[in-house]
Amino acid sequence: MTSLDGWEHAYSGKVRDLYTSPSQPGRMLVVASDRVSAFDHVLEPGIPGKGALLTKLSLWWFGQLEGVPNHLVDASTSVSLPELIEGRSMLVRQLEMFPIECVVRGYLSGSGWKEYQSTQRVCGVPLPAGLNDGDRLPEPIYTPAWKAPMGQHDENITFERTVELVGAEVAASLRDLSLQIFARASAIAESRGVILADTKLEFGADADGTITLADEVLTSDSSRYWDAELYATGDRTASFDKQIVRNWLLENWSGTGTPPVLPDEIVERTAARYRELIDRLIC
Ligand code: ATP
Ligand code: MG
Repeated sequence: MTSLDGWEHAYSGKVRDLYTSPSQPGRMLVVASDRVSAFDHVLEPGIPGKGALLTKLSLWWFGQLEGVPNHLVDASTSVSLPELIEGRSMLVRQLEMFPIECVVRGYLSGSGWKEYQSTQRVCGVPLPAGLNDGDRLPEPIYTPAWKAPMGQHDENITFERTVELVGAEVAASLRDLSLQIFARASAIAESRGVILADTKLEFGADADGTITLADEVLTSDSSRYWDAELYATGDRTASFDKQIVRNWLLENWSGTGTPPVLPDEIVERTAARYRELIDRLIC
């Protein structure tokens, strides 16, 4: 972790480090590291350039989602940020975060596919019979998760459970906003030959209670993207994210204890995948 002049380290998640400063009340500096996590473990080594790529992607998406209140503060006028974190930091308003990961799925994959196989539902949402791994859903569904405190696993929950957690009105707003954002982002991605299969959004309330889009948004860490052309050929495995890392771990690690160090080749292929998504989307 980086020590930053004038900023105090406040929190480190698996991927990002948060800083506050007495000269910037109500604000936070979110610094994206090159750390990569899979199966809830932070792996060694990091992926060079990942923090900057994901920050670039988040900032670009915030710009695309005009009209959706977000947590960004224009840093260019008010603060000079250390060069060390240039390109991988965002100055944001500190929000009261809702303890919910707002997941939207347009396709059946990952934990959604697992749940579907045993119950024909995802997070309580009933789905048609006969779907396969990677299939497009009749329409995107909202499948929230409870954001577990550090060190615990996030847990899929029903919409009704989110009502218990944050109240009916906020729960409905989180769902509706998430579905709207997903629809807009999917259309933009699709126009660039990329499928947005699913994504996780986080929201918080600002000082006057406005529900505000926070955290990273629509990055390859928080979303599953596929190449539309490859998808059409039946290939549902070539996602623009850390699937390469997950696959390698599944083959080379039992899942208990410390995960093995990633080989150079896996690190380089993963970095290339992250860069490719940026090239495809931001043109
Ligand atoms: P992971 O995402 O790897 O499961 P994590 O969410 O704990 O773990 P990071 O994503 O690395 O960790 O850290 C970012 C943290 O900052 C998250 O806890 C997120 O909820 C929080 N956060 C993001 N934006 C804001 C904001 N505007 N105000 C307050 N907290 C925020
Ligand atoms: Mg996070």
